[in-house]
Amino acid sequence: MADTRLYDLLGVPANASDSQIKKAYHKLAKEYHPDKNPEHGEKFKEISFAYEVLSNAEKRETYDRYGLDGLKEGAGGAGGAEDLFSHIFGGGLFGMGGFGGMGGGRRRGPRRGEDMIHPLRVSLEDLYNGKTSKLQLSKNIICSRCRGQGGRPGAVQPCRVCQGRGVKVTIRQLGPGMVQQMQSVCSDCNGEGEMINARDRCTACQGKKVVKESKILEVHIDKGMKNGQRITFRGEGDQQPGVEAGDIILVLQEKDHDRFRRDGPDLFLTHTVGLTEALCGFTLNVKHLDGRNLAIKYPPGSVIEPGCIRGVVGEGMPIYRNPFEKGNLYIKFDIKFPENNFVDEAKMKTLEGLLPPRPTMPHPAGDVEEVDLMEYESTRGAPGANSREAYDSSDDEDGPRGANVQCAHQ
Ligand SMILES: [Zn+2]
Ligand SMILES: [Zn+2]
Repeated sequence: MADTRLYDLLGVPANASDSQIKKAYHKLAKEYHPDKNPEHGEKFKEISFAYEVLSNAEKRETYDRYGLDGLKEGAGGAGGAEDLFSHIFGGGLFGMGGFGGMGGGRRRGPRRGEDMIHPLRVSLEDLYNGKTSKLQLSKNIICSRCRGQGGRPGAVQPCRVCQGRGVKVTIRQLGPGMVQQMQSVCSDCNGEGEMINARDRCTACQGKKVVKESKILEVHIDKGMKNGQRITFRGEGDQQPGVEAGDIILVLQEKDHDRFRRDGPDLFLTHTVGLTEALCGFTLNVKHLDGRNLAIKYPPGSVIEPGCIRGVVGEGMPIYRNPFEKGNLYIKFDIKFPENNFVDEAKMKTLEGLLPPRPTMPHPAGDVEEVDLMEYESTRGAPGANSREAYDSSDDEDGPRGANVQCAHQ
């Protein structure tokens, strides 16, 4: 069954037009305005809330579809609306109406305080091995001397100027049927909604009802946890009288590692081998994140080509909540080729004899012009015939620069 309570508040049908809604609101807003009707302050808030939702096409659609819960979901951090939301959703206004049964069983109870969110930087080693660390933080707790009363019993009185609402609402007639409503923080009580006689004020909290306390949390970083993962401490947020304390939420931030890079359950390394190792096999020693030394073997006869990736199964990150299962370790190889003239010409023949045969090149028909292949040097600022040859015959590595040169010539 659709939720029509906001329409009911304004006394309009659920298919009311925008102008019907507007008219209904203005009529009720005048009637229930707190200046005229102080005992109906709550009613006025409800009406204003209903109008705020129903006069906004997007919010109205959300409400039609998902009811009040839908609005609550979408309200994440929507500024000033939040207080009203918590007021309405926290069991205040609709608390009696069986709201808990609506749209998926929202729990009724006291208003909930804000969650405190802290980043927590962790090393890849800690995420691999798991770690327990202590985190010190400061939070508000309810003053034990006055038990959150702010003073001796009866010392706290609702502010007479704003009737305890903390805000003053002024309404301005702009024209026939048009009113503008303005809210401002009550200056008499600084928006607190209440006053405490200076003599009766609690000396431990100066009437603030809460005091700062430093608290140490034990944080368990489990094996395999990820960047961005949240660790929640229920009800450890700031305390406030009459409000259920929010949570402290730590958000893990994985620090960059100087050797390993993580991608989900897998770890990546880059490693450079010489041409000899690339062709004739090798053993690679890697110190793992838990301090173990791995000797990674690659047998003679298995060739490593530049940029290739090889993997070691089961040497990646542990899987969260299943740490005996692990991802893979992948190694990306670069190859360091030997310097020019690394052997004399005679040995070069021997080497060539050992390597795969050259491909046979078809001879082009007609005249052939012989040119030399040179080391490539940047031609920027000094374009010439020779450098253009170098560009034309340059390999991939010089590609991007070659493209630049080409642009410059246009
Ligand atoms: Zn106190
Ligand atoms: Zn006030």
